[in-house]
Amino acid sequence: MLKVDNIHTHYGKIEALRGVTIDVNEGEIVSLIGANGAGKSTLLMSICGDPKPSAGKIIYQGEDITGKPTSQIMRSGIAIVPEGRRIFPGLTVAENLHMGGFFTAKAQFDETLEYVFSLFPRLKERESQRSGTMSGGEQQMLAIGRALMTQPKLLFLDEPSLGLAPIIINQIFEIIDQLRSRGMTIFLVEQNANQALKLADRGYVIENGEIVLQDTGANLLTNEEVRKAYLGG
Ligand code: ATP
Repeated sequence: MLKVDNIHTHYGKIEALRGVTIDVNEGEIVSLIGANGAGKSTLLMSICGDPKPSAGKIIYQGEDITGKPTSQIMRSGIAIVPEGRRIFPGLTVAENLHMGGFFTAKAQFDETLEYVFSLFPRLKERESQRSGTMSGGEQQMLAIGRALMTQPKLLFLDEPSLGLAPIIINQIFEIIDQLRSRGMTIFLVEQNANQALKLADRGYVIENGEIVLQDTGANLLTNEEVRKAYLGG
């Protein structure tokens, strides 16, 4: 479904990605783990066209999307839940979801909204609440719900567990698992390596802008180097 082939991305003179190659197949959860500053967000954002890679190729559903405008990439069925959620705090839950479904046809909009509320009954209960007043976990649910309103085929999640309590993190990961069972393809970026690898069909480890390991989620969980560096031994 997605093939990232040897991409390099620069911020001025800093080379944040140094020849990254990854694949995401339809129906999979693929996790990318790595330390702070390793290049995880840069990889997600480069696939979305901002910043644009300086070399390499990105093929999505057989089409070369390298260097295409972000708006065009987002309309081709990729949605991103950015790090830090970036919901509109002054708008209600319903208004945030409407923003997500802005380009969705009316008939499909209602159906998608029902789907989002079936995944997150809490959002239905809080429909008219100003979203900035909700808890971190609820805001994360809203950020995921808003991305789903665009009816993506491929969903990028950038550190969905960041700053959340363990019980809420479990809920978020359960939802991600449910999304896969309902047919969504997911590329998950996480510092919470344990949970991300438990859930993943396959995973990649990124260090200093390079992929240093790739394997099934189960194998990475028991890999000695991964255990030492990312799972607290
Ligand atoms: P984190 O979990 O902290 O977000 P990350 O793995 O997502 O880390 P990136 O945010 O992709 O890492 O950063 C990779 C490298 O690129 C880092 O060295 C970072 O300082 C640098 N970088 C990221 N964004 C910019 C920017 N807008 N301008 C300059 N350098 C940047």
